[in-house]
Amino acid sequence: MPRSRCCGLPGLAARGSGRDGSAPILVAVGRGIKAPENIPLAEKLAKLLGGELAASRPICDEGWLPMDRQIGSSGQTVAPKLYLAIGISGAIQHVVGMKGSRTIVAINKDQNAPIFEVADYGIVGDLFEIVPALNEALEKK
Ligand SMILES: Cc1cc2nc3c(=O)[nH]c(=O)nc-3n(C[C@H](O)[C@H](O)[C@H](O)COP(=O)(O)OP(=O)(O)OC[C@H]3O[C@@H](n4cnc5c(N)ncnc54)[C@H](O)[C@@H]3O)c2cc1C
Repeated sequence: MPRSRCCGLPGLAARGSGRDGSAPILVAVGRGIKAPENIPLAEKLAKLLGGELAASRPICDEGWLPMDRQIGSSGQTVAPKLYLAIGISGAIQHVVGMKGSRTIVAINKDQNAPIFEVADYGIVGDLFEIVPALNEALEKK
C-alpha cells in the first residue's frame, strides 16, 4: 500500500518516474522566497537537478505559480524520490501532501520550523545564500 497518492494533475504528477508516478524530483518554494522575482532562483535549481517546481499554498494563492503546482491538503499529494522544501514552514496542510516523499530536504532559516520534523536532511540558513551556492556548485558539474 503506497504511503500517499498522487492526483494526476499536469506538470507534476503526470511527469514521470517517482514512486507513485509523480515527478522524481520536486523543488518546492514557500513564502520564504519573499517575492515573485525570486522564484527563478528555485526554478534554476529545479532545472539543474532535472526536477520540477512546486509550491506551498500562499505562493499559488498570490498567483506567483499556477495552482497545479500547489502541494498539500487542498493541492496535490506527491511522493517523489526527492522533495526539496525551500522556505516552507511545514504546516500540516502542506506536510500531508509531501510526507510520502522518499527523501525530504528542507532549507529554512528557523531551526524550529516544523518542516525539520519530517525532513531527512535539514539545512538551517538563509535560502538566498544557500540556493545560489547550490546552483553554482551544480553548474560546475
Ligand atoms: C483549509 C486549509 C487548507 C490548506 N491547504 C494548504 C495546502 O494545500 N498547501 C499548503 O502549502 N498550505 C495549505 N494551507 C496553508 C497552511 O496552513 C500554511 O499557511 C502554509 O502551508 C504556509 O506556507 P509557507 O510554509 O510557504 O509559509 P510560512 O508558514 O509563512 O513559512 C515561511 C517559512 O520560510 C522561512 N523563511 C523565511 N525567510 C527565509 C529565508 N531567507 N531563508 C530560509 N527560510 C526562510 C520561515 O522561517 C518560515 O518557516 C491550508 C490552510 C487551510 C486552513
